[in-house]
Amino acid sequence: MRAIYLTKTPEGKTQAVIKELNETDLPTFEKGGVTVDIDYSTINYKDGLAITGKSPVVRKFPMVPGIDFCGTVKSSNDPHWKRGDKVILTGWGVGESYWGGLAQMACVSGDWLIRKPDSLNSKDCMSIGTAGYTAMLCVMALEKGGITPQSGEILVTGASGGVGSFAVALLSKLGYSIVASTGKASEHEYLKSLGAHEVIGRETLSEPGKPLQKERWGGVIDSVGSHTLANACASSKYAGVVAACGLAQGMDLPLSVAPFILRGVSLIGVDSVMTGREVRDVAWNRLAGMLSSSLLGSIAQVVNLESAITEGSKILRGEVRGRIVVDVNT
Ligand code: NDP
Repeated sequence: MRAIYLTKTPEGKTQAVIKELNETDLPTFEKGGVTVDIDYSTINYKDGLAITGKSPVVRKFPMVPGIDFCGTVKSSNDPHWKRGDKVILTGWGVGESYWGGLAQMACVSGDWLIRKPDSLNSKDCMSIGTAGYTAMLCVMALEKGGITPQSGEILVTGASGGVGSFAVALLSKLGYSIVASTGKASEHEYLKSLGAHEVIGRETLSEPGKPLQKERWGGVIDSVGSHTLANACASSKYAGVVAACGLAQGMDLPLSVAPFILRGVSLIGVDSVMTGREVRDVAWNRLAGMLSSSLLGSIAQVVNLESAITEGSKILRGEVRGRIVVDVNT
């Protein structure tokens, strides 16, 4: 099996190479381990951090990165899964603490797998991947907070990225009016084709702003953090809901309590990594019902395992549009 293989030099630098490994090299699980023949994995922002070593997301070396994959069960010590089952994995520390999906095979706990929806093929599933599934969790957070299409404009930040593209596409399918914020002038038409009603420059949100600003957003899906998230909260309408899932601008949050105590704004954190199977199943079934292969094809591009290493650097520079799907067998 071929895999992207990460090691750390004595100087502390992360090195990423393509390496031939044996199935017997895969870490095993004492109970309930499932070995999967992988069809596709992807490059997420976190994979970029792992491959470049820019942030310490990899907990031990050597590591095979790849926080998500889709494939077919090869062998199983978990009674829930049998050879031939089509499965999806996202999160659970895979690609960080456990060998991940940027390889032709992986061995993971059966508890972490979910069944692939019948209506999606493996490539479709990874076109969605962690980013699309996280966008759906954000949509569900807005809904739980009482936001409907009647609540007014929804702001999506980091809109041309993986989470952002899916947030725009999903909200559009659900009938919301979407304002997409992007740093890429070249992607305005792309965002409109996904369903954005208006596209604004990311610089309108990314600088330090006042604690309370003109009310505009009924809801927000933010994958950027820092001043962008602070300004999004400060310009949310009364009882607005802000779903925060990312840190592409920064991990800081320079914010006052004013939007919360004067406008009843809710800030909801969204984590996709440790979400339980029940919620995952709901999210994936909704995704399967809403996204066509042609829409997914307009968001995702496919690369091979070698190119995935380069894409890992590009995603951190904010140069990737939509999703990078990795065909691990080419
Ligand atoms: P992408 O790189 O695909 O998207 C991030 C987007 O943010 C970029 O495309 C760019 O969009 C924008 N951006 C990049 N740099 C900056 C900057 N300096 N300031 C403002 N905006 C910037 O990554 P993903 O969509 O895969 O992930 C987005 C974020 O969400 C990441 O921080 C990731 O770690 C996090 N995440 C969290 C999850 C969770 O479970 N909580 C799950 C998945 C992702 P544009 O050019 O359009 O502005």
